[in-house]
Amino acid sequence: MNHQNEGCCADASRRRLLGSTLGVAAFSAVGGVSWLLPGIAQAAALTKAQRDAMTPDQVIAMLKEGNERFRAGKMQGHDYLAQKRASAGGQYPAAVILGCIDSRAPTEIILDTGIGETFTARVAGNISNDDLLGSLEFACAVAGSKLVLVMGHTACGAIKGAIDGAKLGNLTGLLDKIKPAVDATQFSGERTSKNDAFVDAVAATNVRRTVEEIRHRSDVLAGLEKDGKLKIVGSMYYLVGGKVEFYA
Ligand SMILES: [Zn+2]
Repeated sequence: MNHQNEGCCADASRRRLLGSTLGVAAFSAVGGVSWLLPGIAQAAALTKAQRDAMTPDQVIAMLKEGNERFRAGKMQGHDYLAQKRASAGGQYPAAVILGCIDSRAPTEIILDTGIGETFTARVAGNISNDDLLGSLEFACAVAGSKLVLVMGHTACGAIKGAIDGAKLGNLTGLLDKIKPAVDATQFSGERTSKNDAFVDAVAATNVRRTVEEIRHRSDVLAGLEKDGKLKIVGSMYYLVGGKVEFYA
């Protein structure tokens, strides 16, 4: 790798990570010079060789670096048409993210990932159910992802609704799945949806409960994690500041 370029790229560390993992030959074959020079659009989707060579911890590091680029306003210059072409014949995403539908928490943007790099499942309050567990199992056991990342966020409307005991059509049943997190949250202050600190404390509990539920209800995913092929990790996205805090 050209040492002159180290430290000048917005995502230089990710490139170093992949480069050191895969070796120079595979590295240059998939990304070409665009991986080595700053300011050039990110054209390639993850290849199978790149993804398969990564450990779950390296996937976490990649997503952390993406979030740092987002917070610094130095996102990769995504060439979505090139990524679309590169991934049309097959997809090798490194992670599956279970996040909330909140319009302010789009995981691909806040983690600065491109087409073909992450599966994304979004549901109000980032809860799990049979269909979501099936989706996570597909992403990991069939398609080879190395990380299940459950992502809650601050000021979550679904969490507020669960605290308030809101009732509305099919939403009622969804909020019922969050309510155990309300009861399980240790908190000494005012336990209402008007208290931002309590809302965010419940959101954190809800993330941890979802992670545990995935482990307990999916033998497929728990087995992959036990074998070291997968990590199931919680996280919290802060609307103010834009940081994704990983519970790992
Ligand atoms: Zn939300």
